[in-house]
Amino acid sequence: MKIAFVTAECAAFIKIGGLADVAAALPATLRAAGHDVRVFLPYYTQAARNLAQAWDTQRFVAVAYRDTVYHCGIYHHVTPDGLDIYFVRYDELFGRAGVYGSGDADYPDNLLRFAVFQQAVLEIFLMDDWFPDVLHLNDWHTAALPAYLPVYAARDARYAAIRTVFTIHNLAYQGIFAAREFSMLNLPEEYATPAWFEHFGGVNCMKCALLHADLLTTVSPTYAQEIQTADGGCGFDGILRTRHADLSGILNGIDAAVWNPATDTRIPARYDAANIRAKAYCKKMLRARLGLEPRATTPLCGFIARLTEQKGVDVLLAALDSIVAAGAQVAVLGTGNPQYEQALRDKAAWHAGAVSFTAAFDEELSHAIEAGADIFLMPSRFEPCGLNQMYSLAYGTLPVVHRTGGLADTVVDTTLLTLDNETATGFVFDTPTAEAMLHAVHRALTLYHDDRVTWRALRRRAMGQDLAWPARAQEYLAVYQVLCSRRTKH
Ligand code: ADP
Repeated sequence: MKIAFVTAECAAFIKIGGLADVAAALPATLRAAGHDVRVFLPYYTQAARNLAQAWDTQRFVAVAYRDTVYHCGIYHHVTPDGLDIYFVRYDELFGRAGVYGSGDADYPDNLLRFAVFQQAVLEIFLMDDWFPDVLHLNDWHTAALPAYLPVYAARDARYAAIRTVFTIHNLAYQGIFAAREFSMLNLPEEYATPAWFEHFGGVNCMKCALLHADLLTTVSPTYAQEIQTADGGCGFDGILRTRHADLSGILNGIDAAVWNPATDTRIPARYDAANIRAKAYCKKMLRARLGLEPRATTPLCGFIARLTEQKGVDVLLAALDSIVAAGAQVAVLGTGNPQYEQALRDKAAWHAGAVSFTAAFDEELSHAIEAGADIFLMPSRFEPCGLNQMYSLAYGTLPVVHRTGGLADTVVDTTLLTLDNETATGFVFDTPTAEAMLHAVHRALTLYHDDRVTWRALRRRAMGQDLAWPARAQEYLAVYQVLCSRRTKH
């Protein structure tokens, strides 16, 4: 099967959030299964790393607007396992320090940036005479493609045969712009209607894909249900309910080549479920690195996230004093909202030696925290899938999570029943409040201190979960197969 995977992020080059991890691992897994997969990504001249590995093909595609033509350079990279990655280069649009914006503010020309990117991808198909069976789209940056396809099909009928699947990684980011920006899309007038992009008087990119992608997926079964409700639908629950037969929830996997404590070179020492002693060494090194006191029997909690309201940073902040009072330490890593950063800095100063805060995007430290912590905190208000709780399971760091989205699907709460039937892997609470999280943290601390045998059993079970991509990729393949078997578009 020929699959084009179009994305704004891909982990080896540019990572802002979970989308990057998915865009690196899923295409690679599909390629390993024998499919012809190509990944398409903007060439972020300043923001991305490892770009030296991508070579300039010396070829250009032209994206023509009424009064401007964007001549985009094409760069190409083949990963060690043979996956083709194509980069679209246009420095005026993508040669910036950030990906989506700087600080808290989005770039004002984001609609134009990703519109040019999407059209360039379609131009590359024509230039290379390579037309995919399946065009896999991800989040709003690629959500206009179901509108471009019929326009391009008027030029070349091969575009008409392409089927689209749109994956919602986070419904909260919809690509909303003022009506006057519609021309940035470079689409005929009929697309400026509620049947395509118009939404409450503005342009909404996500809407186009929700209505017109042939199939929809999102990144966990629970989130697939939640987004069909008024509470979780971000205004699109009605549309999503009408498309429920075309919508499925497929959990993200984790990339075992990157997130495996037995082989991870970013952590001080390696360990696995059968031989976990080195985890204690990782904890010791982490404490030393973060200036946390080396107290023998004190459990250490980790928290890593974009510092946004979604991630429940306020819940963590409200609970921190009590967590410390309950005798635990906390290592926080994250960047984002400056007010949250300041509040965390203040807490770390107040609880010096017990709480640390690192205001950075630091992948190496994120591995060190996953390996060195005993407990991982995720009080997210909503979480489409969430990756850190899965990394935590793999690293034997028991997650304490709010029962939402992918967190609900991947962590089994510790109860009498789940201890008895040997399925417990963490601690789950029902409302994203400090009180509810503290209750779960207390349950975790009690087990940690009072029943080491059970704690170790939970840790072993967590580490034994099959969280890798191959099984999940099979589910995507099943979706692609449904698509290809459809003779007409919906
Ligand atoms: P989201 O995509 O909403 O940000 P996910 O849990 O799906 O949330 O994925 C977040 C990814 O980004 C994880 O791999 C996480 O470890 C990583 N991450 C988030 N913040 C940081 C940070 N400050 N430093 C390093 N990695 C981070």
